[in-house]
Amino acid sequence: MIDYHVSDGVCLLRLNSPPLNAIDLAMLEALRKAIARASGESEVRGIVITGDAEHFSAGADVGLFRQIASADDAVHISRAFQEAFAAVEDSSKPVVAAVAGKVIAGALEFAMACHFRVAGRRARFSMQEINLAINPGAGGTQRLPRLVGPGKALKMLLTAETIGAGEALELGLVDAVCEGDQLIERARELLRSAPVPQKTSRRTDKLGDHAATRAAFDEAEKLAAGMRPEIIAPRKIIDAVKAGLEESADAGLVREQTGFAECMATPAAQNKIYLFFAIRQTSKVPDLAEARPLRVARAAVIGMGTMGSGIVQALIGAGVPVVARDEDEAALAKGTERIQRSIQKRVSQGRLSGDRAEEMLGLVSTTTRWDEIADADLAIEAVFEDVDVKRAVLREIERACRPEVVVASNTSTISLDVLADAMDRPERLVGMHFFNPAQRMPLVEVIRRAETRSDVVATAVGLAKRLRKTPVVVRNREGFLVNRVFLPYVKEAFWLLEEGADAEAIDRAMVDFGFPMGPLTLMDMAGLDILVATDRVLCLAFAWHGPLSQIAIRLVDDGHLGQKRGSGVYKYEKGDYTPHHSPSAQGIVAEVRAGQGRSPREVPPREITERLVLRMVSEAFRVMEEGVAGRESDLDVAMTLGTGFPDFRGGVLRYAHDLGLDRVVGRLDALADKCGERFSPCRLLRERKGA
Ligand code: NAD
Repeated sequence: MIDYHVSDGVCLLRLNSPPLNAIDLAMLEALRKAIARASGESEVRGIVITGDAEHFSAGADVGLFRQIASADDAVHISRAFQEAFAAVEDSSKPVVAAVAGKVIAGALEFAMACHFRVAGRRARFSMQEINLAINPGAGGTQRLPRLVGPGKALKMLLTAETIGAGEALELGLVDAVCEGDQLIERARELLRSAPVPQKTSRRTDKLGDHAATRAAFDEAEKLAAGMRPEIIAPRKIIDAVKAGLEESADAGLVREQTGFAECMATPAAQNKIYLFFAIRQTSKVPDLAEARPLRVARAAVIGMGTMGSGIVQALIGAGVPVVARDEDEAALAKGTERIQRSIQKRVSQGRLSGDRAEEMLGLVSTTTRWDEIADADLAIEAVFEDVDVKRAVLREIERACRPEVVVASNTSTISLDVLADAMDRPERLVGMHFFNPAQRMPLVEVIRRAETRSDVVATAVGLAKRLRKTPVVVRNREGFLVNRVFLPYVKEAFWLLEEGADAEAIDRAMVDFGFPMGPLTLMDMAGLDILVATDRVLCLAFAWHGPLSQIAIRLVDDGHLGQKRGSGVYKYEKGDYTPHHSPSAQGIVAEVRAGQGRSPREVPPREITERLVLRMVSEAFRVMEEGVAGRESDLDVAMTLGTGFPDFRGGVLRYAHDLGLDRVVGRLDALADKCGERFSPCRLLRERKGA
């Protein structure tokens, strides 16, 4: 678990717990023993703690969090980490951490407990606990302020900001930076100067400026006030830092333990931890365990529009050479420009080096000819959402490429059966449904037909992972998983609008529920014409969805397509995506209402939230009933990553279970009576009730 090796007066402790060097209780025990042994060996002058050349440690084993059943358990685990790291800090012999890779959360807390830190040039540092809705429990709230000052520390703790090795050196978080392959030598060199061990938790050199400290806490309060009230971690972090500075580091450590226990008891933390594991599980598909993914050395993307150019960017970002084919020269030029601009932006933000950007751009070539995609191992089509166009393109891909090519479609609504029908080798067709913008959105729905070969599905899963995205494998059915579950939610928003609810009130209710934006604003962004076209396909397959509100149809007919036209449900100023009240859209809303004898009415936010969310819940159970998703947790991952469903609620199905399925069915029955059959619970949901 920890390799122990002494040479030239230096004890090298190398974490050896593959694949991630995650820290669990056994490793903490091994650490204490190793430190005690090194302290007792007279020939040892100093200690170096390191991981492997590319990666120090993933931090605390999150599996430990799942074993926590009570506040006592949480305090016990936090204390075990604090005490083991205190043993490192208390060592009478100087201890240097030599770290590389992403040094996150528990790994950074570990490194901060050492007396000195040497980092590889590409190391990156962050405190990510807040992303799991918990506060650090291993001394991070005490040692970070003492190394980088309270202002920067609070910002890192509250926002999970990542900093590079250069900034870490400037701030004093690390003492030296060197090439990754010289880490150990650099650490030894530091020890040769016979440094006096400095206990981080006793340092005060960054704490003297009272005005700056007060300003840091004011800023932290502002940050915390902007966060969700369900997540108590920001409050606990501020309290622990304050106790550490105003009382003592020991008092701060105790506050950290109790804060950690309180955070762990919140549904928000439990839901985020549930999703953390659910995300890691999606690519483990039981019947694909034996399937061998095929090699993808070169890819082709057909259609260089919005999605095609995003997919190209995702591929070159992962080092996959791509040839992009569009039939329109102008589309190729525009797509290339979009990619260049997006990459350039990352360079100017310091998130990508100039060399790396050039390397990426060198991986793309464009063409209008089919024969130039002949070498591709995998071809992704992202042409217009039109059955005939897509069928023709799939046939061309088969004609141009080798018989072994994997053919992926990025269709968002069309059943793959309809497309496979046009192919000579339909068993090589798989869906890879990316989300817009494809270079950033973390989800890829991988869609399999009954006839799709397992190695083809495994190839799509493997490629999505190579692009650092989360693949969720689903069975073929119109709308697949995400669009199918999300569309009823959006349609319900338009129904409420038609019934008299105010557009802004609908959007506000869903933002208050936790979505990043309301459904009407979102549809303006995606395009109301896309909504109408999607519904046209899905309502044929799912009759219970009911019709789309006349408001959406009239808006599209009158050219209010959304942001791209400066006008949708809301009005937009040129170059600005802030939604404003739109008198012309309001005119259409009023006309449709008047035609049905309806007038504006104030709808309570609870009613809005209930109707919209329960439409999703009800459809999600239908997706499970039909076996479209393999696991409930897959559905929860897909909806949180694909639509922005609030992760602190754990996903659509987890939310339903938290409400209680008895209550869900009761409310759906009541809504079915009041609003219509679209709310009727499916067989599976009725069966699961009371289970
Ligand atoms: P788009 O209109 O921006 O781009 C389509 C491109 O395909 C155009 O550049 C067009 O010239 C090209 N094209 C058409 N026929 C071609 C052919 N025979 N050979 C080569 N190129 C051809 O469309 P988009 O928004 O990028 O959507 C593409 C696909 O992705 C659709 O199936 C859509 O449903 C799906 N999708 C879109 C989104 C989205 O938000 N836009 C999200 C997920 C999936």
